[in-house]
Amino acid sequence: MSRVLIIGAGGVGSVVVHKCCQVPEIFSEIMLASRTREKCDAIAAQLPIAIQTARVDADQVEELVALMQSFKPDLCINVALPYQDLTIMDACLECGVNYLDTANYEPRDEAKFEYHWQWAYQERFKEAGLMALLGSGFDPGVTNVFTAWALKTQFDEIRELDIIDCNAGDHGQPFATNFNPEINIREVTAPARHWEDEQWVETPALSTSKDFDFPEGIGPRKIYLMYHEELESLTRHIPGLEKARFWMTFSDNYLRHLEVLQNIGMTSIEPVEYNGQQIIPLQFLKALLPDPGSLGPLTHGRTCIGCLIKGIKDGREKEYYVYNICDHQQCYEEVGAQAVSYTTGVPAMIGAMLMLSGVWSGHGVFNMEQLDPAPFMEKLNLHGLPWKEVIS
Ligand code: NDP
Repeated sequence: MSRVLIIGAGGVGSVVVHKCCQVPEIFSEIMLASRTREKCDAIAAQLPIAIQTARVDADQVEELVALMQSFKPDLCINVALPYQDLTIMDACLECGVNYLDTANYEPRDEAKFEYHWQWAYQERFKEAGLMALLGSGFDPGVTNVFTAWALKTQFDEIRELDIIDCNAGDHGQPFATNFNPEINIREVTAPARHWEDEQWVETPALSTSKDFDFPEGIGPRKIYLMYHEELESLTRHIPGLEKARFWMTFSDNYLRHLEVLQNIGMTSIEPVEYNGQQIIPLQFLKALLPDPGSLGPLTHGRTCIGCLIKGIKDGREKEYYVYNICDHQQCYEEVGAQAVSYTTGVPAMIGAMLMLSGVWSGHGVFNMEQLDPAPFMEKLNLHGLPWKEVIS
């Protein structure tokens, strides 16, 4: 029996609330709060059980503190935007509330994707006797757990890690992103970075690609090297890792649109003066693009996200691939969202469930791979994200 405060009523927030309602023995009191209260109420109206809703500006610590003091949650699930991570962590410390998120903090004026701002809270969470779980989505999140599971069950030492994220779905729109467009485009247009020979190697965005043959009939797709935040924590916490890379598929159509938008400056986060007003081109572009939440009924096909891992077991080289396949339409039928929101929201609920039931515990700030992967792997199979492994 516990009280959970969910902040953010977007695509992911909606899935988290739906999934928490499926486990009332853990999540007995739920509040959904966001900047726009109407969005919380619209989600609440779809649920099988009653939840509370509230308006909060999560950039304002005082507003968060007032809300937490009145609702008294045991845990706050932050599925607003990465910009709000630190203010929500501050409020959690002030109110004695445990914390979970799905994306690392980013300053608004720099697309940085680094954990150091949140790792700096380690001592404060430890002293307060609280737990902060960082990156409990799919990637980061399940990919970190997959890697920890591989180390626990398959390898004595992991040498190479390739995280490969494929969205083989189609929403039929000329151009749309399947999660928050501003965050998505900042991520995709940032330089690629991977770990090799104990250092980071940086290459221009989307300049390295190769074909990868995805399982279960998805088939060969072009994957592009990118930087993704879980590489930073995994290279820190998985000993002996010689190479770590993150790859994602993009359709030619997506890349063509992105190239034009970049060339004309529409993806820039530098403010420009327009009609006496400062606007940020990428934020304006977000206002024009389809709301990712609206893609749910339109998106068909599947996602396939997994880890391809090479390493040593009993002195011999070995390869291991662990992945999940998720069907967009099945997600929509279950919770009214497409698979990208679903694959993020389900692990957020599972991380919360493990914290609230005391299966995952500790004081301080944790990345997913620092905790026992076994209970998380078990819950994935039970709550909608079954995984498979190929051992060679
Ligand atoms: P959306 O843009 O759909 O939703 C974000 C929600 O946060 C909106 O309801 C928005 O309110 C709310 N919000 C924004 N600013 C504030 C604020 N200052 N105070 C209160 N609420 C605020 O994003 P998604 O649901 O797609 O993504 C949510 C999070 O999940 C992001 O951090 C994203 O990076 C992360 N993510 C993680 C993935 C993973 O695998 N780890 C994959 C995909 C996403 P309003 O509606 O009023 O704008």
